[in-house]
Amino acid sequence: MGYYEFTIRIPAPSRDALFNRLSELGCLGITDHGDKVIAYFKDGIDIAGLRDEIGSFRQVLRDAGLDPDFSFDYFYLSERDWNEPWKKRFIPIDVGEHFSILPPWASPDPTRIPLIIDPGMAFGTGHHETTGACLSLIEKYSTAALPPREGVTPPSPPLNLRGGGVGSQSFLDVGTGTGILAIAASRLGFGHVVGVDIDPLAVDAAKRNAERNQLTDITIVEGRIDSVEGSFSMIAANLMSEILIRIAGGIAAHLKRHGVAILSGMLVGQEDDVLKAMLKAGLEEVERRYDGRWVSAVVSH
Ligand code: SAH
Repeated sequence: MGYYEFTIRIPAPSRDALFNRLSELGCLGITDHGDKVIAYFKDGIDIAGLRDEIGSFRQVLRDAGLDPDFSFDYFYLSERDWNEPWKKRFIPIDVGEHFSILPPWASPDPTRIPLIIDPGMAFGTGHHETTGACLSLIEKYSTAALPPREGVTPPSPPLNLRGGGVGSQSFLDVGTGTGILAIAASRLGFGHVVGVDIDPLAVDAAKRNAERNQLTDITIVEGRIDSVEGSFSMIAANLMSEILIRIAGGIAAHLKRHGVAILSGMLVGQEDDVLKAMLKAGLEEVERRYDGRWVSAVVSH
C-alpha cells in the first residue's frame, strides 16, 4: 500500500477552508508549510475524482469571497518511501499549559502530559488550530485536577467540576478522529470517556491511539451522537458548523446539568448561527475564542 502526496500552493486566507474540505475528502493528514500545504491520501482512492474535487474547490472559494487561485500537484509514494518524509513532518508540539502531542517515535518531555498520536489514519494530529483550541479549553475547564505548574495562574473553578473531582466526571468526544481529545480527557483524569465517529477508519485509529497511550478506559463507538447513551459532564465537538447546528439537540440531551460543551470547527461568520441553535436547544454561551479564521465556543446547561 502507498499514499498520494498532494502539494497545494494556496494563499493563507483560503487555507482553513481547504483543510476542512480535504478532511471531508478523506485526507489522512495535512501539514502547513507556510508557502504550501502538503496533504496525504490513501492508495486506492478515486484519484481522478479527487483531482476534480480539489479543482472544483476554486468555485467554493469564489462563492465564499476568497481568492480562488491555487495550484496543486501530487505524486504517489510507495509504502517504503512513506515512513521517512512523514516522520520528519510530524514533530512534537506543545499545546495549552500541559499537553505535548507527539508521534509514536518521539520521546516525551517528562514535564508535560504526553498525547501519543499516530497521524497515519485520521484527522486530528493536533497541528490544526481547532484541535489546539479544543485541547486548551478542555484543559481550562478541567484544571482542578491538574498539578499546579510554576507561573500558571490557577483558573476559577471549572463549571463541570461542581460537586466532585475530575475522576467522577465523564467526557464525550463527538467526531473523535484520531481520538486526540478523548485521550487528553482520559489523561486529565476523566473517569468515563467515550469517543464517537461516523468514519470507521477514524474509529480504528482512535482505538489504536488509545491503546498506544495505554488508556484502557476509553470507549470508541462508530456512529453519530445518538449512537451514544447517557449524559456527560463535558462534551467536545470539533465539527463543521452545519453539523454542530444539526446536532445541537443531541449535545443538549447528552450534557449533564452544569456540564460544559466545547464546540470548534466554526469559521468566522458562522458562530452566531451555531450559538443560536445551541441556545434554542437550551444551552447558554459561556465563552468564545478566536484563532485566526476559526472560532470555538463553550456552552453550558
Ligand atoms: N476531534 C478531532 C477530529 C476532528 S475532525 C480533533 O479535534 O482534531 C472531525 C471528525 O468528525 C472526523 O473524523 C469525521 O469523520 C467526524 N464526523 C463528521 N461528522 C460527524 C457526525 N455527524 N457524527 C460523528 N462524527 C462525525
